[in-house]
Amino acid sequence: MFRRTKILATLGPATDDPKVLDKIIEAGVDVVRINFSHGTAEEHLSRAEKLRSRARAFGRQVGVLADLQGPKIRIERFRDGPIELGEGDEFTFDAGLANGDGDQSKVGISYKELVDDVKRGDNLLVDDGRLVFWVDHVEDKEIVCRVVVGGKLSDRKGINLQGGGLSAAALSEKDKNDIKTAAEMGADYLAVSFPVCADDIHLARKLFREAGGHGGLVAKIERAEALNCIEEIIEASDVIMIARGDLGVEIGDAALPPIQKRLISLGRTMNRVVITATQMMESMIENQIPTRAEVFDVANAVLDGTDAVMLSAETAAGKFPAKAIIAMDRICREAEKQRQASQSDHRIHTEFKYIDEAIAMSTMYTANHLKVKAIVALTESGSTTLWMSRIGSGIPIFAFTGHVDTRRKVTLYRGVVPVSFDITTTDHAELNREVVDELKRRGSVRDGDLVVITKGDLAGVMGGTNAMKIVKVGDLIEPDFDE
Ligand code: PEP
Repeated sequence: MFRRTKILATLGPATDDPKVLDKIIEAGVDVVRINFSHGTAEEHLSRAEKLRSRARAFGRQVGVLADLQGPKIRIERFRDGPIELGEGDEFTFDAGLANGDGDQSKVGISYKELVDDVKRGDNLLVDDGRLVFWVDHVEDKEIVCRVVVGGKLSDRKGINLQGGGLSAAALSEKDKNDIKTAAEMGADYLAVSFPVCADDIHLARKLFREAGGHGGLVAKIERAEALNCIEEIIEASDVIMIARGDLGVEIGDAALPPIQKRLISLGRTMNRVVITATQMMESMIENQIPTRAEVFDVANAVLDGTDAVMLSAETAAGKFPAKAIIAMDRICREAEKQRQASQSDHRIHTEFKYIDEAIAMSTMYTANHLKVKAIVALTESGSTTLWMSRIGSGIPIFAFTGHVDTRRKVTLYRGVVPVSFDITTTDHAELNREVVDELKRRGSVRDGDLVVITKGDLAGVMGGTNAMKIVKVGDLIEPDFDE
């Protein structure tokens, strides 16, 4: 049985070992994330290059997602290593302090404007909320706080303002440079961190295209304010990532589960792809098996309808990167067997905008009710498969395309399998035969199975899909009705 839900794994020092890289490809990773918060442009380019070369060697298609750092506000470095803070201690975030001059009473901050964004009574959460600071007063460049929740504090940890409200722009100067690197590596997706409105995505898309980038845009939903204009942000993006780490710090962890369900449902309804991210297998950074709670978390995201589940430090810096993917794979497959109610009111009250969209929807209705074995879209841009994959189904959707960019893009779509296929004939009956032969060669169908094929009259035309054909494997394949 094939897995519909896609696995997105972050590359890092742990996957730089060629043996580990091979193992994660064999384990079934669909897309890798290159995290621009750590490392140099050369390292990012080299990781993408090695990944693609090894994926080619395995005959696998693996997408690449370049994740910009965004305005992550961090503390600077300490002079003598990590410090330990206790509840009630006074501690100052000092915008005037040099990097590397932090000590037991104060530390520098990377975003100097933080002093203008906070006031007495605010809570600053550091290191994904592990430490909490109550702002007592702000004086010149100093934010003087009391420790509410203490613990170990080390260099470069992130700071969030509880409730949101930080004024930092989504794209920093570093991000603008990194967009050029993402374009150079041919990233299939570019993720924008901390967007607050649709314009942040529009600007990133413009810069990415100007730099020669062709990939889709991912909006990481991680600011409280983003939820106020979520539909505009989704509309502006190709993909949304539920970035539960930072979002949970801003809105509170208990608010995350209903938000996750709402975002997945909204994303699918708006024909966008959804990634569920962060701490899905956190304990596997150290352990060989996940906790029961992690098993439930991954399974619930699958049942909610997410396209992809993401691994962060579990693969980038963990002890068992391949085992984390194998465990996720197992949990996804099992959860996918639990079919949800088959009644669908997806876009029931809206009109279709495009002919190919209407064909995609008709195909899913037909395929689900006729119980076909496979759906094949002969596609240029992959749009037909995106529309199809928004509809719940247990039937694999094969994206047959001659474009490598399209094959990489669909690696993120739930239920969609990329297949390299060049259309070499204008004879529709012959084309059907070639499609079925390819499915047989892959072991996906056998004689007697039904297959739905979508295609256009004119091969090679984007948005040209205007026909759906149902064929029975092994039968004499009749020519199309229009021939
Ligand atoms: C998150 O905050 O959940 C997230 C995915 O962002 P990052 O890992 O880039 O901090």
